[in-house]
Formats: sequence, C-alpha cells, structure tokens
Amino acid sequence: MLTLIKVYFQFLAFSALIKSKMQKESDGFGGFLWRCLDCGHTSKRTTDLTKHIEAKHIESAGYDCTLCGKHCPSKNSLTAHISRQHRKVSF
Ligand SMILES: [Zn+2]
Ligand SMILES: [Zn+2]
Repeated sequence: MLTLIKVYFQFLAFSALIKSKMQKESDGFGGFLWRCLDCGHTSKRTTDLTKHIEAKHIESAGYDCTLCGKHCPSKNSLTAHISRQHRKVSF
C-alpha cells in the first residue's frame, strides 16, 4: 500500500507542477485559453497545454515507476506503462 500512496503523491505533485505553469486568460472573443507561463504558448484545451508543458518544460525530469523502477520520460508514458504492466493497480 505504501508504494501506491507514493505513486499517488507523485501524480499529485505532477499536477501541481503543471498548474503552476498554466494561466487561464481571456481569448478576446468571449472565451478563454490557457497560457504556458514558461514560454507563452497558448491552447484552448488544458489537456493540450498539459502535454505541451510536460513535453517542453519538465520532460527532462522524467518519472520512475515506483512499482518496478522503469524510467518513463513523461507522465503520459508512465500512465501508459502502469496501465499496461500493472493494470491490476487502480487509483
Ligand atoms: Zn511552454
Ligand atoms: Zn512499472
């Protein structure tokens, strides 16, 4: 169980890091968009900007699967790895 809690907090820390680099702004047409505070890149969808931040600004850190130690370059690949290799694990 302790391992699962560690994985869970790893995801929480990742979310907090992503959010700290995102800013919601008006798009000037009555809607809004999300801006990357690191480089100014904008996107209408948080999922797109999340992927951008993950790929451009925090990829170097990477993620180690706390269940087997495999290193994954991004949260998406870690998520894919976990669902593939440890699919009995649920959050
Ligand atoms: Zn950026
Ligand atoms: Zn693993």
